[in-house]
Amino acid sequence: MALRELKVCLLGDTGVGKSSIVCRFVQDSFDPDINPTIGASFMTKMVPRNNEIHKYLIWDTAGQERFRSLAPMYYRGSAAAVIVYDITKEETFHMLKTWVKELQHHGPQNIVVAIAGNKCDLVDMREVQTELAKNYAESIDAIFIETSAKTSINISEMFEEISKKIPCVE
Ligand code: GDP
Repeated sequence: MALRELKVCLLGDTGVGKSSIVCRFVQDSFDPDINPTIGASFMTKMVPRNNEIHKYLIWDTAGQERFRSLAPMYYRGSAAAVIVYDITKEETFHMLKTWVKELQHHGPQNIVVAIAGNKCDLVDMREVQTELAKNYAESIDAIFIETSAKTSINISEMFEEISKKIPCVE
């Protein structure tokens, strides 16, 4: 079986659930008291798909202001970037647009962008409407998906969508 390596980095405000998404995907677990990421953390996960094995190399970056200048080190080598916002915090959706602009100006050409509206289990606290985020994602040709690291909704689906959109390099 062919091995395909997929480098993915996660960007977005502190507290939107980046580390929790990676933890759910890689270990299938959720820790409500997860520690904040300092700088960046790296994890891998192998997923058999059709007649290939997809090896995800995932960089989870810290959203804190003091670490933001480190982000280019991670997204520059990535085939895909997941920009995460929290559906219950409108300001995290606005912040996402800053990341998009940064990727457009300084990111690798043809980087696959996925926008993840996380914490979709918290329906009663929603501040960002699905349609609004979906339309925005379409306008920049990004994948759009609402996820919940807590309940596992759309986590592996998101990584699958990303792998479909990353071009194969022979
Ligand atoms: P990061 O700073 O973006 O890496 O965010 P964390 O992964 O540290 O998560 C911040 C907080 O949000 C933690 O208390 C998590 O338990 C919580 N959290 C993360 N994802 C979800 C989710 O999908 N649903 C809910 N309800 N809480 C979440």
